[in-house]
Amino acid sequence: MTRHRYRCDRCKRTWPPVATREEADQQRARHRALTHGGTVPDGDDIWLMEDRPIEGAGLSRPARRMLIGLGIGGTAMAAWNWIASHR
Ligand SMILES: [Zn+2]
Repeated sequence: MTRHRYRCDRCKRTWPPVATREEADQQRARHRALTHGGTVPDGDDIWLMEDRPIEGAGLSRPARRMLIGLGIGGTAMAAWNWIASHR
């Protein structure tokens, strides 16, 4: 899903993201009319925001690193046990 947010660089303000380009266009038109007397302010723009799926299913980076560490440690122990039992 993509969201749109209008930003006016002159006013250093960013509007809350909206679902459609049309809504963002309306916000832009309203703001230009009300605040800038119908003129086009410098650097006003509509930004696209991509909603990305959260990486690692909600695990923080250190938690993932710990799980990877446990996995490597577990593999090493299993290998050690295999070697010990096959001597
Ligand atoms: Zn403005």
